[in-house]
Amino acid sequence: MALPLIQARNLSRVYRLGGGDVHALRGIDIDIDEGEYVAVMGASGSGKSTFMNLVGALDTPTSGELTIAGERLADRSPDQLAAFRNRVVGFVFQQFNLLPRTTALDNVALPLLYRGTPAARRQARARECLEMVGLGDRMDHHPSQLSGGQQQRVAIARALANEPRLLLADEPTGALDSRTSEDVMAIFDSLNASGITIMLVTHEEDVGAHARRRVIFRDGRILEDRS
Ligand code: ADP
Ligand code: MG
Repeated sequence: MALPLIQARNLSRVYRLGGGDVHALRGIDIDIDEGEYVAVMGASGSGKSTFMNLVGALDTPTSGELTIAGERLADRSPDQLAAFRNRVVGFVFQQFNLLPRTTALDNVALPLLYRGTPAARRQARARECLEMVGLGDRMDHHPSQLSGGQQQRVAIARALANEPRLLLADEPTGALDSRTSEDVMAIFDSLNASGITIMLVTHEEDVGAHARRRVIFRDGRILEDRS
C-alpha cells in the first residue's frame, strides 16, 4: 500500500486573538491519495481555507500531525517549508495574484526563477504550461490585457511550472462568472485526468460537482466525506 499523499491526524488550528481564541480546525482526520480530485466545501468560516493553508505549508497547525508526500511538516523551519512548497505544491487563489506589469510568460516562469532554473529552460517550461491551459497565443499579454478567466488560466499555468504533485485551489472560480468558471473547471478536470492530485475549496455546488470526492466542513470539523 502506498502512503496517502496527504495524511492529517487530529489536526487543529487555533487563532489566538486579543478577544479570545478562534478554533478554526477542531481535529481533522483525513487521508487523500495521489491522483484524487477533492472538493472541500462548507459554509463561510467553516475552516476550509485554514485547512488548505496547512496542507500547502503556508501555515502551521496548533496541534496534530500532517504528512504530505511522505514528509512530516512539523518542526520545519520557514525556509524548509518554503522549499517544500516549491517542490511539491502549486497554488491557485481566487484573486489570481499575478504580477501586473509582467507578461503572462514571465508570470508563469517566476516560480522557476526562485528555483534557479536557467533562463532558456524557464521560458520553454512557461510556454509549455501556457499551452496546457490554452493560452499559447497570449504569452506576451499583461494581466490587464486578459479577461478574468484568462488571468486565472495564467495563474494555473504558473502553479504547474514546477511540476507539482499537488494542486491546491482556494475558491478558484470565486471571481468568475458561471460560464468562465466552467472553462476553468475544465482545465482542472483535464489536469486531474493527467494524474495531478487536486484539492479545491469552493462553496459552489456546481464547482464541487467536478470533483470525485467531496469533503464538507462545518465549524472546524469534517461533517461529511463522500466519493
Ligand atoms: P472558510 O475558508 O471556510 O471561510 P477560514 O478557514 O477562513 O474559513 O476561517 C475559519 C475560522 O477562522 C473563521 O472563524 C475565521 O474568522 C477564523 N480565521 C481565519 N483566519 C484567521 C486569522 N488569520 N486570524 C484569526 N482568525 C482567523
Ligand atoms: Mg476561505
